[in-house]
Amino acid sequence: MRIDLHTHSSVSDGTDSPATLVATAAAAGLDVVALTDHDTTAGWTAAAEARPAGLTIVPGMELSCRYFSSDGPPIAVHLLAYLFDPLHPAFAAERARLREERLSRGERIVTGLAADGYPVAWAQIVARSEGGVVGRPHIARALVEAGVVDSVDHAFATLLHHRSPYYAPKADTDVLDGIRLVRAAGGVPVFAHGLATSRGRVVGDDAIAAMTAAGLLGVEVDHPDHTPDQRAYLRALADGLGLIRTGSSDYHGTNKRTPIATCTTEPDQYEALLAAGTGVPVVTD
Ligand code: AMP
Ligand code: FE
Ligand code: FE
Ligand code: ZN
Repeated sequence: MRIDLHTHSSVSDGTDSPATLVATAAAAGLDVVALTDHDTTAGWTAAAEARPAGLTIVPGMELSCRYFSSDGPPIAVHLLAYLFDPLHPAFAAERARLREERLSRGERIVTGLAADGYPVAWAQIVARSEGGVVGRPHIARALVEAGVVDSVDHAFATLLHHRSPYYAPKADTDVLDGIRLVRAAGGVPVFAHGLATSRGRVVGDDAIAAMTAAGLLGVEVDHPDHTPDQRAYLRALADGLGLIRTGSSDYHGTNKRTPIATCTTEPDQYEALLAAGTGVPVVTD
């Protein structure tokens, strides 16, 4: 069994439509793929309708969160959520708030760039997102198309970096509240790419312990942004805390260079995740 539990489609910041994404997953030889767009479940139906026979789809999402530590500013953390009830009112309301937050924050970034003469327009970026969840990758593509930078990577390394003067933060969900919301909706919360230092500051073991106390059920161990040492460290930490270990590609289509199925989840860990999720079933034969 080949299992990839973290992918993004064009309803957030990937480039494959949900239908193309599930076809890509099957063509790559996956047996199981989770669709985990940022802060939305909008791709679930289209992915299910386009599901190739033999492929199992795990409905999921990646929630934008922050960890509030006692020392220093909040740390951005991403929380994967699987098999939750999309209609759970409090959780649905929080996702809607996050999407609004992304719009106001994206507009702030683009307004700053435009004020300094960069040829980007917020209205065009929103129109191009076709009502999906807007993120920095959309702004990056606009900068590429305007000829300001030569790649999405280059845009992130310069103008869109979290230390760039144009960067604007989002008021993301307190991760402990996020974990409780996912659990309340019958879902399985998994800490995404927890040690990926290329994305900014990362949390310490104390935070992972606090998240576990709040109901965290798993950690993403094998991820393209983790070094072998970080994977070994997280694996031991997960085993010590009794958490599920996942592995995944974090595929974003052509917005990132990582192919689908680059990293995968062990079948016994997948079975444990399935057993813990009660909000919706997987989509399967
Ligand atoms: P945002 O959620 O708007 O803050 O944007 C962050 C998103 O950009 C995350 O989903 C990342 O997967 C993506 N991202 C981060 N760094 C890069 C990069 N170098 N190239 C492409 N996408 C990136
Ligand atoms: Fe992303
Ligand atoms: Fe992420
Ligand atoms: Zn992701």
